[in-house]
Amino acid sequence: MPDRPATPAFQPAELDWDASGQPQSRHYGDVYFSRASGLEETRHVFLAQNDLARRFAALTAGQHLVIGETGFGTGLNFLCAWQLFDEVAPTGARLHFVSVEKHPLTHADLARALALWPQLQTQAQPLLEQYLAIHPGFQQLVFGGGRVVLTLLIGDVLEALPSLDARVDAWFLDGFAPAKNPEMWQPALFAELARLSAPGATLGTFTSAGFVRRGLGEAGFDMQRVPGFGHKREILRGHFVGSATATAKPWYARPAFQPRQRRALVIGAGLAGCASAASLAARGWHVSVLERHASPAEEGSGNPQGVLYLKLSAHGTALSRLVVAGFGYTRRLLRHLQQGQDWDACGVLQIAYDDEERARQAELASAFPADLVHPLPRAEAEQLAGVALPDGGLFYPEAGWAHPPAVCRWLLAQPNIELLRHREVLELRRDGEQWQAVCNGEVLVEAPLVVLAGAAEAARFSQSAWLPLKRIRGQITCLPATADSAALRTVLCAKGYVAPARDGVHTLGASFNFQQTDPAPSEAEHLSNLEQLAGVSEDLYRRLHADPAQVGRLEGRVAMRCTSPDYLPLIGPLADAEGFAEAFAALSKNARQTPDAPCPWLDGLYVNTAHGSRGMITTLLSGELLAAWIEGEPLPLPREVAEACHPNRFLLRKLIRGS
Ligand code: SAM
Repeated sequence: MPDRPATPAFQPAELDWDASGQPQSRHYGDVYFSRASGLEETRHVFLAQNDLARRFAALTAGQHLVIGETGFGTGLNFLCAWQLFDEVAPTGARLHFVSVEKHPLTHADLARALALWPQLQTQAQPLLEQYLAIHPGFQQLVFGGGRVVLTLLIGDVLEALPSLDARVDAWFLDGFAPAKNPEMWQPALFAELARLSAPGATLGTFTSAGFVRRGLGEAGFDMQRVPGFGHKREILRGHFVGSATATAKPWYARPAFQPRQRRALVIGAGLAGCASAASLAARGWHVSVLERHASPAEEGSGNPQGVLYLKLSAHGTALSRLVVAGFGYTRRLLRHLQQGQDWDACGVLQIAYDDEERARQAELASAFPADLVHPLPRAEAEQLAGVALPDGGLFYPEAGWAHPPAVCRWLLAQPNIELLRHREVLELRRDGEQWQAVCNGEVLVEAPLVVLAGAAEAARFSQSAWLPLKRIRGQITCLPATADSAALRTVLCAKGYVAPARDGVHTLGASFNFQQTDPAPSEAEHLSNLEQLAGVSEDLYRRLHADPAQVGRLEGRVAMRCTSPDYLPLIGPLADAEGFAEAFAALSKNARQTPDAPCPWLDGLYVNTAHGSRGMITTLLSGELLAAWIEGEPLPLPREVAEACHPNRFLLRKLIRGS
């Protein structure tokens, strides 16, 4: 995948407010909604032309409907669709709303615009609560325990839609008048709408411009003029009559997996397992989580403080795009937990500790919006941190730390999830449509769907033994807070990190050790953590009374991180490795062809692992990605990023490179 700028020309919306308090875009010189009645116009143009009242009511439990929109703006269309869905759709049905927005409103502007619609407050309030960390790329927001999902694609519609993997049932073609925004209303847009349309997908738009009608017609939509609302004489409606274009290569296609029972087993109750279970349970699955220990989060997810550290790249790599999307998702989910105890948005300061790091930081600061990350000179950084620092650095104001065990407990606290403790699965057997989790010959439990989420242990089964998972030992040191260390107000990172105290203890860490797997804390690694603390802040080192002579008394914790050869996680369906090599053998001679064979999926077997030390950033969204693969929903990440995290990438590379 070619790299691309992290944030191509990102600009938030700039609004002007007229005498009656209605918003208008300064950039486009157009209104966000009809002055006569935005609400009635939305209902007429988008809800009625897509026949949504009838279609929502016709859904059954377990089914979902996907709406796609160009131009999220103030979210008025989304809120109206959600309100109607709540009124008429049955329990267990779900709405997935995907909307592209090049210039997102600030939170303050969104609040001001939505205050115009008291009738929508039931929906507007949760939207405002979740409208945070909305940064370029894909941002998923979840409402009503998963009944309504909003995927915002922050970017230009012509750049964002080609990365979307979805089957859209109804289109809201919004986005300022064609005369005021000609760049958007292009044949390339109409072609994308066609590519993403489910058979028979419907479309409504406020414009009646002839070139739009003709362009949509050429792309495969049967278009009609119908009477408009208010001063508008005519608008357009249509439905897709073209044929679907298959795009995915067979090894990245969605497996046709439709079990009769919605029952799942998740093996491993760390963050990845708990997130997978939660995302499935939110979709009506009954999930048994099998954990070999007495409680969730006893291994890699058991540290007292996980830092929300964003490993970004200015070059728009798959990892960096995953991190921005995952960070936003994590931050929104953390709002449900107790701030101060379970997590804190105290910010993360990455200190510019040498010239190379300074250069890297300068590149990042110019590639990302300032509300995600911005540089701070030393004096300001010290003021913010509350302690003396060796230099300034990059500040991530929305980041902080979280207590992973609390996150796991929150994720598991759903009626559809049962936690089976002290269950060590040693073998997986297939029996008809069921996977059986077996320990010493005894079937513990069975279900048609299994998610392997036990870090490097995910590769312990014969079906998954080929997964290239690596263990990296990590040791943290826990230092008791002192009266002087209370001054620390933000997470500090250099080569190591230290967080403000939780429950009277600061976490500092962490070592990276590929060689050893000893579970007992080592003095050598405590000493290296102390040394890293000194690199972060000599002042804080003194305030914490850090003393290498006392190393024998230090408290700490060791855990094995799990990572993959390309440092991206593995999230998705598993194929049979031998069958894969046979089906796609031709690739070893010519990597450019696409053999016309189906992928030999292991029906119902999925994996979610290798999140490395970024668990707090990537695991929560990984549950949504996994569920989207399983349920045929829009992927919450760009297609290229989801493929970069697909387990099959390694089987493919092995065939092509022979390694
Ligand atoms: N649907 C919105 C609502 O319910 O409030 C109103 C949308 S407003 C009329 C048009 C929106 O389209 C603006 O927010 C604008 O920033 C966005 N937009 C315009 N051109 C775009 C483009 N090329 N890509 C993505 N979004 C675009």
